[in-house]
Formats: sequence, structure tokens, C-alpha cells
Amino acid sequence: MKTIPRLRFALLPTQVEALPRLSAALGGPRLFVKRDDQTGLAMGGNKTRKLEFLLAEAQANGARTLITAGAIQSNHCRQTAAAAARYGFECILLLTAPQDKPAQAPEVSTGNLLLDQLLGAEIVWAERQNREQALKDTFQQAWEAGRRPYLIPYGGSNPTGAAAYAYAMQEFIEQQVPIDWIVFPSSSGGTQAGLALGKRLFSYPGQVLGISVDEEASVLQERVANLASKTADLLGERMEFAPADILVNADYLGGGYGVMGEKEKEAIYLFASQEGLLLDPVYTGRAAAGLIDLIRNGFFEPDQAVLFWHTGGAPALFADRYQELV
Ligand SMILES: *Cc1c(COP(=O)(O)O)cnc(C)c1O
Repeated sequence: MKTIPRLRFALLPTQVEALPRLSAALGGPRLFVKRDDQTGLAMGGNKTRKLEFLLAEAQANGARTLITAGAIQSNHCRQTAAAAARYGFECILLLTAPQDKPAQAPEVSTGNLLLDQLLGAEIVWAERQNREQALKDTFQQAWEAGRRPYLIPYGGSNPTGAAAYAYAMQEFIEQQVPIDWIVFPSSSGGTQAGLALGKRLFSYPGQVLGISVDEEASVLQERVANLASKTADLLGERMEFAPADILVNADYLGGGYGVMGEKEKEAIYLFASQEGLLLDPVYTGRAAAGLIDLIRNGFFEPDQAVLFWHTGGAPALFADRYQELV
């Protein structure tokens, strides 16, 4: 396997912990969690691992400004802003407001948006419909101004970012906790592509199941399979992934991206009250709701071990739009 450039700022390995009280409360299989919410970079999350490789590539390219895009409560944008601050890059974030809100700064900044500003990022607002064009324009302007921009895609999900989760799978295997199923939220697909590739590269015998946050199964499976094949290529390995190789459950899309419903609420309360673990309203709350429902429907055997790969996101709990949580 080829090694690719990497900076080291994540707190690794992240812990694997047993969840005995949650397992008992659900009367289900033995549950575990892997704490990628504790990767250490400005409140952590799964983007930290990807950014170790993306920033190394930006440095190698002589970039001075990182540009990325996401939703107003994007964890990816917050962690990119933090990594930029730590390594002396300027950072421009292109943010899109929720559907019902205008494309401009809200009156008060809460949750991840507050942190983006604290971390010194410049923020550009865009309408959802023309965000691709706005991103191109932002990049072009930075280029013409001599700011040497480097574009990080949505969620950091290109082969460079996804490679981080192939290594994360290797880390997990070395922790030697026998697990039958790994369950986690999947959206831009880099996390799942990396884990699927890592499963093959390092011969992990268990199953890797992504709970789709905002996309129908066939679309996400195709995206992840493509990305996994390209990531293998980047690492000098010839491996083809087909959509059928990628396990996705898209039964829990609820009210759409970023809309917190009763199921997400229940999951957030259950993890908090049984294990002192904080989930988020957009990603881990939805994936945990899916996991809980699968357990109740007898999807797993009672003697199996199931690991919830916690991808972070709790800063969004403090966003004004989720204040109806309590
Ligand atoms: C970005 C994100 C995800 C989704 O990961 P992808 O690699 O984009 O599929 C899941 N959970 C949290 C908390 C995230 O911020």
C-alpha cells in the first residue's frame, strides 16, 4: 500500500467503549461505541481524520487559503476552520441557510456557526439552488486575488479524505474488540467509502452498515462505491467496488436533512440518559434512531456485538433551531 502525506493532529486511537446500560435498556445485542466524537480538534468529529490528509495535500500544493462549503450547522466547516487556524491557513466557508431562511447571516450565531466565527473563518452565504456556482465564483475570486486557494469538497469526501477512514478501520481492528456490525451515519460518503475499503484491505470480517442521513439508498451506494474504488487507486491498490458491496439503510430519512423529528429526539435522550453520551440532531441522532429501530425489529442476533461509530456533531445541539429539543 502506498503511503500518502499526512499531518498528525487527531487524538488517536479513539476509544472503544462498552454500552452496558443502553444494551440493557433496549434488551438487545451487546452495544459498543467508537469515540470519533473525541478526535480533539475544536470539539472533534469524523472530519478531523480526513483533514489530516487534506491539509497535508494543501500544504504540498503551496496553498494559503482553504475553501469549503456546507450547511449552516456544518461540522465539517467548523473542523476545517479549526484546522486552518492551527496550521496558519486562511479559511473561507460557503454556507447555505435552511430552506425556510434567507441566504444571509442570521441575527444571532449559534452552535457550529458561532464556532466558525470564533475560529476566524470568513463566511460567504449562498442560496441552496446556486451553491455550486457560488463555490466556483468564490474559488475564482480567491485565485485572482493571489490567495492560493485549495478546495476541500463537501464533507471532505474525495479519495484523499476518505483514505483516512481506511486507516481508521485498521486502527479499529488493532483494538481487537470483536464486533459483528459497525453502524454509523452516512452522508457525503467519505466515512463509509473509507471503512468499506479498510474492511477489504485489512480483512475485517464484520459488516459495515451506513444509515443514510439524506439520500435514497441507490444514490448513496453508488456514490460510496465510486469513492471507495478511487480511494483504493490513490493508495496504489486495484480494487473495484460495486453499489451492491455497500450496505446502506435509507429507512430513516425522516423530515429531510437537518430536520429533527421524534425518533432523533428519542435516540438523543436515550444515549444521554443511559450512557452520558451526546449525539447530534442531524447525523448521529438519526443514525442512532435507525440503530434503535433495527434492534427493536430483531435485525441483530441477541448474542451479536454491534458498534456505533460516533462521528461527532454535538455542537449543533446548541444551535437555536434545535432548542425545541427539551
Ligand atoms: C459529516 C458528518 C457525517 C457524515 O460523514 P460522511 O463522511 O460525510 O458521510 C456523520 N456525522 C457527523 C457528525 C458529521 O459531521
